[in-house]
This record gives sequence, structure tokens and C-alpha cells, in this order.
Amino acid sequence: MKLKNKFNNLTKENKGNIYIGIAAILLISFLILSVAILNLAINESKENKEAIASDEYEYIIQDYKRNIPITYKEAIKELSEEVIDKKIPLDDSKEEIKKVCNEKLANLNQEYYNKYNIKIESSVKSVENISEPFDIRIETYISSVKNEMKYEDMVENDINIEGFKDPIPFLYCGKEMSFSYNETTVKYGNSLAKYLEDKGIKNSSYYINATAPLIIRKCPYDPYKHHGDGFTMKTCRDSGYYHESADGSCYLCRLEGKSGCFHYGFETFINPQPSNLTNLSSACGSDHVIFGEDTYPGIECIYYSQNGINEFLFLDPNGHRVKYGMDK
Ligand SMILES: [Zn+2]
Ligand SMILES: [Zn+2]
Repeated sequence: MKLKNKFNNLTKENKGNIYIGIAAILLISFLILSVAILNLAINESKENKEAIASDEYEYIIQDYKRNIPITYKEAIKELSEEVIDKKIPLDDSKEEIKKVCNEKLANLNQEYYNKYNIKIESSVKSVENISEPFDIRIETYISSVKNEMKYEDMVENDINIEGFKDPIPFLYCGKEMSFSYNETTVKYGNSLAKYLEDKGIKNSSYYINATAPLIIRKCPYDPYKHHGDGFTMKTCRDSGYYHESADGSCYLCRLEGKSGCFHYGFETFINPQPSNLTNLSSACGSDHVIFGEDTYPGIECIYYSQNGINEFLFLDPNGHRVKYGMDK
């Protein structure tokens, strides 16, 4: 009886140990599982974070690339304003544009570093004319590294120079006292007539108080031969438009004070003061002819008359008169 009891007690004790063992194993398993699940969750969230970071990086780089042409336009505008203020042409407009654009890029890169803690390096590789004469093409090398992410690219931007002032009138006549301008128009006063007289041009006095556009804007009346239709030429001159021209100088050469160049460029007209006289002749009024090396004559082409006062241009009979349809 006593023995049996003892045996029974033993069995009870053993049973208790087994329960504790099982509980311990369960607890450990649970702990291991919990840690594993927690790890998995942490890893997952880390991966998510990296995905967000790389998306953000891509977004910031794309945003940076969108800012490049805006930055360049600002830089070229500032440079052209400086040429106009000082009335001194640039020696090498491509190099100068490269320089001012690189300076602005350095500022932009610093801005992105301060804002996003992303290092971007970039530099202008080339500044070129293209077949669209109102655009300048700028090529830029960009590189950036952020942790394991890397970006490298060569981008091309066509910077439209419409809306900029034309430096040519300022570089040729701007130093004369009677030269002036308002927001849209250059007023030559006596300066242009004097310039032409010094060149030995006949009837240069017809260019006293001549006017010309200040702001470069592409003429929408294309083909140009329709300028002779209705009031097209009147509207064109009142709007101060510029026209594509193989002989007219491009914007890069205008900054260097060249009135003509071998690039595909543009021209505008210089308007003599309206007059009641007819059958006049003087230097052809295209700007590349007026300021060019061999200025040739033009005849009076009237495009608008009111109360006996004619608005007209001097155009060479076979060249510009035909090109603009003023020969009808
Ligand atoms: Zn036009
Ligand atoms: Zn040129």
C-alpha cells in the first residue's frame, strides 16, 4: 500500500515535469516564431523604405532636369541684357553662354544638395545653332550618386530666344545721344541716318527717326510672300516680327555684334519715318543689309496709307520685295 502510494506520487511528479517541459518548448517556439515574424516585418518595411527612396530620387532628378532649360534661359537673358547695357559685343558668345550657364548650374546643384541632400554634378558640353534659328541647343552632362543609386545622362535642351532684346541696334547705334527705346520699339533718332551717312549711303536722311523692333519674336505669317496681302505687312510691322533668313545673323552672332553670318538666322525691318512723299529710295531696310558690309539700295514699298501719310519699307526690287510678296 505504502509502495503503491509512493509509485503514484512519483508518477504525479513525472507528469508535472512533462507539462512544464511542454510549456517551456511551446514558449520557446512562440518566442522564436515571434522574433522571426518581427524580423520579416522589419525587413519588409526596410524594403518599402528603399523603394520609396529610389522613387523619390528618380523624381528629384527628373525635377532637376526640368529646371535646366529654365536656368539656361535666365542665364542667356541676363547675358544679353549685359551686352545691351554695356553696348559691348561678346568675343565668343558660345563660350560666354557656356560660362554663365555653368555658373547657374553650380547654384542649382547647391540648391538641390541643401534641399534634398543629393549631390548632382553637371556641366555644359556644347552650345550650338540648329536649323530652327530662334532656338539655341545646349548639351549638358549630368551625374549623381546617392547611396547605392546612381544617375548619369547627357541631355539636350533647345532654348528659345524669343522675347529677348535684339542687341544689334544697341551695338551699332546705341551710343548716340538721340538713340532711345521703349518696351517694344527702338527709336533711332539721328543715329541710324548718321551711321548710314558715314558709310556713304545715298538718301540716308530718310532714316532719321526710323524705328525697329526691340524684342525678338518670330513672324507667324508664313509663307512670307503673303505679307503683301491685305494688312499683313502692316500687322507684321506693328507687331515687330522677325523672319527666318539665310543672310540675317543668328542670335549667337548678334551677341557678337555681327549683322550677318553663315548660320541660318533671322532678319527684321527698319521702318523709315512715315512720309507723304512717293518714289523714294534709300538703303534696303532689312537689318542685315543696313548693318552689313555691302549695303544695297531699296525702293519705297508702301504697305499702309492714311490721310496721305504712307507707312513703307525700302526693299530691293528682286530680293526682299519678292520674298515678302510686296511686288504685286
Ligand atoms: Zn512678318
Ligand atoms: Zn551666326
